[in-house]
Amino acid sequence: MARAYGNPLLTFEKGGLYCEAGDFHIDPARAVDTALITHAHSDHARKGSRRYLCVQSSVGLLRSRLGPKAVIEGVPYGETLRLGAARVSFHPAGHILGSAQVRVEVRGRVWVASGDYKREPDPTCEPFEVVPCETFVTEATFGTPGFVWEKGRKLGAEIHAWWEENARAGRNALLFGYSLGKAQRILGELAPLIGDREIVIHETVAPATSCYREQGVRLAPTRELAAAVKAADGGRLRGELILAPPSVERSEWLEALGEYETAFASGWMQGDSPWGQRQFDRGFVMSDHADWEDLNRTVRETGARRIFVMHRGNGAFVRHLKRQGLEAYPISALAREPRETAHQLELL
Ligand SMILES: [Zn+2]
Ligand SMILES: [Zn+2]
Repeated sequence: MARAYGNPLLTFEKGGLYCEAGDFHIDPARAVDTALITHAHSDHARKGSRRYLCVQSSVGLLRSRLGPKAVIEGVPYGETLRLGAARVSFHPAGHILGSAQVRVEVRGRVWVASGDYKREPDPTCEPFEVVPCETFVTEATFGTPGFVWEKGRKLGAEIHAWWEENARAGRNALLFGYSLGKAQRILGELAPLIGDREIVIHETVAPATSCYREQGVRLAPTRELAAAVKAADGGRLRGELILAPPSVERSEWLEALGEYETAFASGWMQGDSPWGQRQFDRGFVMSDHADWEDLNRTVRETGARRIFVMHRGNGAFVRHLKRQGLEAYPISALAREPRETAHQLELL
């Protein structure tokens, strides 16, 4: 296809990236033959493909998402696979356990698809690795200058202090965070601070938590909510830290909590996003994605001259990169099926 940037190694189709030279997709939204999966979040790992390839430490998480019958092959970080005419390897993305960037090399040309990533330290996953490339396909969940977080904050200690403060007042501390990745990061940050004190987790947080432990990640001790309520005096919890996904915010079990404060741990707690405006007693700006500064730093460090930006709201980042003299495009520029892509992009 005739494009200003020549013959692309990756195009955008089936809601994901496609490599013609290697005949595989990366994070496809629909069933394909060979799907390389950057990480186990539901918007990247969908059912129905014939065969899946992912990083070794992601296999357990992917298995619990895709079911017992899915054909999943784990590959160590950095190991090169030959797929058709492409040489392919996975490199740490620092997003959640087993998350990866995908490096694709065809006849000496190198493209890297970032998947979701962050640069801040996280005790529960492998740190991000800068992978030099000519073309970088980057996520940009927080691709506007309003999203910059203070680096080096001791979020584990802040959450611990908030828990203590509530416990002293006889209240529970109800902390919302996504059930895969964020919840385990919180458990990992708290592990060195709380000894053998247990954190109560909502049932939906349990499967991913087990997968992390199976991979040897050190997490704070936990027990599940239903059992904790059953064992509690009069069925009422007191002074506990309870970890639950935001999707269960308005459920009946909240009644068992008596008095409690709420908090949300998310990058969305910063800025004027809809989540930031919600009624939580506290917000912890803890993100699994790069902020505006780290997106820019990462693009610089890869040395890429050409950038494609995923996610909606990519306009600000594309314009900013162009002003730096880089070739930058929204991901739709790689679409082979323009009409369909417009729809898929809304889902990203
Ligand atoms: Zn993700
Ligand atoms: Zn994502």
